[in-house]
Amino acid sequence: MNGDFVYEALPMRVVFRPGAATTAVPPEAARLGLRRLLVLSGTRGLGTAQAVADSLGESCVGLHPGAVMHVPVEVADEAVEVARKLDADGCVAVGGGSAIGLGKAIALRAGLPLIAVPSTYAGSEMTPVWGLTEGGVKSTGRDPRVLPRSVVYDPELTLTMPPALSVTSGMNALAHAAEALYAPDASPVISLMAEEGVRSLAAALPAIAEDPSASGPRAQALYGAWLCGACLGATTMGLHHKLCHVLGGAFDLPHAATHTVLLPYVLAFNSSATPAASAALRRALGGAPDPAAELHALARRLGAPRSLADLGLPADGIPHAAHLAASAPYANPRPASPDDLRTILTSAYAGTPPPPSAA
Ligand code: NAD
Repeated sequence: MNGDFVYEALPMRVVFRPGAATTAVPPEAARLGLRRLLVLSGTRGLGTAQAVADSLGESCVGLHPGAVMHVPVEVADEAVEVARKLDADGCVAVGGGSAIGLGKAIALRAGLPLIAVPSTYAGSEMTPVWGLTEGGVKSTGRDPRVLPRSVVYDPELTLTMPPALSVTSGMNALAHAAEALYAPDASPVISLMAEEGVRSLAAALPAIAEDPSASGPRAQALYGAWLCGACLGATTMGLHHKLCHVLGGAFDLPHAATHTVLLPYVLAFNSSATPAASAALRRALGGAPDPAAELHALARRLGAPRSLADLGLPADGIPHAAHLAASAPYANPRPASPDDLRTILTSAYAGTPPPPSAA
């Protein structure tokens, strides 16, 4: 163990229970003293959001189904306006990272406390990181005010995620844990959570792909996603998250699927500099000798997209993406030259197996 670390616990409260979206949100709101809540969702999640709004009764002043991917500034402005007009004293965000991102934008701009009810494995609910997109450029920042005051995990909400989205969203979560294991601000506590998060998701995702309606694997995956999200909130992400950010921003590639395709290539690249992280991943993946190869094979077995080409990256986008990634600093255990970045992206573009990891 490296006995030199800093660990700062984030003030998070979690309620985890089947059915909690409607049974736990009202007591959580009461505990926070909130009586005029605005419920937020995307259009697809409207039915669930309505059920949450109904469960709040008179403590709900409105439902705003305006969340869209990457939180465009105009969408955030409109939601802040709705919250102000309704004199809301807090928000409940019901949905994936997009709905929770909208709740964070309102928390940032209007100071309203947020209760998060996640329906995917993306992990935003566990982080003090906000994101806003203006003119095609996404800015992000850390602010303790956007960390949800309470997170209500209800595995039943995730039953409607189709197998394909379940797998890519789970791989997205797993990527947070993988990079937390070698982050510059890694700590033994976060590494424990990361290893357990990977173990839970790697066990649950094949079971979900086989039977998306089975409740046990859904609970196990959401538990893993919680832990992986906490890792994301506590550490500084590296090359993998940097490349995903670039590919999402510059080429509008789908968030979770991009994480799924890219992760094995970055892990293989970093492996010579990350022996302890690789050992933790091996343990979490049931003793698999090469974690990068195992994750690549797992994604294929579960029918995930195979390559960046499949996701719509144009071949001539590789040099541009490599240039963008190289031009802004990021934390990574192994320095990556522009040539290294092009090599990683070229392999991920083709979907060929990642090179063997260092032992
Ligand atoms: P998302 O919230 O956009 O959801 C993806 C799709 O899945 C949407 O069409 C949504 O309607 C649908 N969906 C959500 N839950 C569902 C369910 N239970 N059943 C069926 N369909 C469902 O995507 P996401 O992957 O959850 O989040 C991605 C966004 O979150 C990105 O913008 C990303 O940048 C952001 N994010 C932010 C942080 C952070 O810390 N700030 C962390 C992770 C992700």
